[in-house]
Amino acid sequence: MNRSDVIVLGAGLAGLSAARDLMNSGVDVRVLEARSRPGGRVEQTTLADGRLMQLGGEVIGPSHTAYTQLVGELGLTLVPAFAGLPGDDVWLLADGRHVGDLPFFDDADRASYERCESEFRRLVASVDPDDPWSHPDAARLDQLSVGQWLREVGATPNVVRARDIAMLALAAESVERTSLLSDLRKEAVTGDPSAGFYDYDVWEVSRVAEGSATVALRMADELGHRLTYGAEVVRVTVSTRGCAVELATGERYTADAIVCTIPVGPLRRIRIDGLSDERRASLDRQRHALTSKVTVAYADSFWARDGLNGTSYAETGMMGGTWVQRDGILSALVPPERQSAFLSTAPGRVHDELLDELVATFGPDARTPQSLMVRRWAVDPFTLGYITSWRPGDVMGVGPLHGTHEPPFYIAGSDQWVCGYMEGAVRTGRAAAAAMLGA
Ligand SMILES: Cc1cc2nc3c(=O)[nH]c(=O)nc-3n(C[C@H](O)[C@H](O)[C@H](O)COP(=O)(O)OP(=O)(O)OC[C@H]3O[C@@H](n4cnc5c(N)ncnc54)[C@H](O)[C@@H]3O)c2cc1C
Repeated sequence: MNRSDVIVLGAGLAGLSAARDLMNSGVDVRVLEARSRPGGRVEQTTLADGRLMQLGGEVIGPSHTAYTQLVGELGLTLVPAFAGLPGDDVWLLADGRHVGDLPFFDDADRASYERCESEFRRLVASVDPDDPWSHPDAARLDQLSVGQWLREVGATPNVVRARDIAMLALAAESVERTSLLSDLRKEAVTGDPSAGFYDYDVWEVSRVAEGSATVALRMADELGHRLTYGAEVVRVTVSTRGCAVELATGERYTADAIVCTIPVGPLRRIRIDGLSDERRASLDRQRHALTSKVTVAYADSFWARDGLNGTSYAETGMMGGTWVQRDGILSALVPPERQSAFLSTAPGRVHDELLDELVATFGPDARTPQSLMVRRWAVDPFTLGYITSWRPGDVMGVGPLHGTHEPPFYIAGSDQWVCGYMEGAVRTGRAAAAAMLGA
């Protein structure tokens, strides 16, 4: 019989961590997952030589406490990621290749950068990441793009350019299309008083040695028969008298409560009855930055022999830049504004152009990888994105219902945290389970 106490929609990190906590508290829980595997936006593959390659989420920072705790509970280990690797960055700029730290900056740009970052830091301290709406100037800060604000505080054009290139390397939206309030909230959540502009040393410091997707695989193993794959949810009915979930196959499941962890894009395809109009409007208002991920495996980290650290930033080309995933493996993201060229190009041609970019960045040894994989998350029907994108006005548009529950409908998932990330998935998943157990 398809009846349980709780149904969790989606078996990404959020759904799995919510279901695991519920199961461990004696709740009869069922997880419904559309794909034939767990993990959602974390996924890995094993290369012929045994190295694991991450095709989705990879790295975390020291303030990612929920994720770190879960990793410990699962008996997995954190090791340093790429942020501390020795060597120089490479920049592929409109006028060619440069090596070093912000090679297009002069002294005036450097001074301007420092001034702007210290002003940004001052504003970060004024934003409560759990309640950015309470900021006395919230509406104005949300309406301003980061680019507009930088110019308002006197940034030189090269400072705006540097921030834009850095954001594109992360496959975030351009600074011209990102709400200042959302960016302040994102840095405020680190709880680090020295947090300024997005910094790899704050966000990208560690990775799970056994593979970040192993976190999901371990939880799925623990959940065992409670997990149903190939279960695409198409309709949900929410009521305090009982909830029902219908699959694309027509199969029905019932429960007392629901934890929904489906990303906001695919969620729009699901009919939900019994939710308030305000809740539905808030969920529908969210959107994602679109990305595709490129992973390239070489026999070894050959770039290190040239004094390079494997990190690059690309103002031109398809990729926004690269970083070292692990020995011999580079990762890269295709930023939202380059998706159009990327997705409309024949796969063989994409492969050749990516190799040309890697050769332009790291030299001729980059021409012959053992493997080059492309994961088009932007058009994956069960993701349709990457991480939440907050365009100017979006924080106020989504409003204070963001990440809150409407029992017996509980909401979790990285989209329901400040800015996405694996931390957001685990933190909201466990918080949803705790809220439900408390109720
Ligand atoms: C390329 C890429 C790189 C990233 N890099 C990092 C990183 O380095 N560090 C970091 O912290 N984060 C990173 N992230 C973000 C991080 O991976 C995600 O935020 C996090 O894994 C999302 O977890 P989730 O459980 O909230 O959502 P998801 O993992 O998306 O899980 C949702 C689940 O719902 C399922 N689903 C969807 N529709 C339905 C339906 N109709 N019925 C049933 N099931 C459905 C999906 O198949 C999926 O399994 C990256 C993401 C991507 C894509």
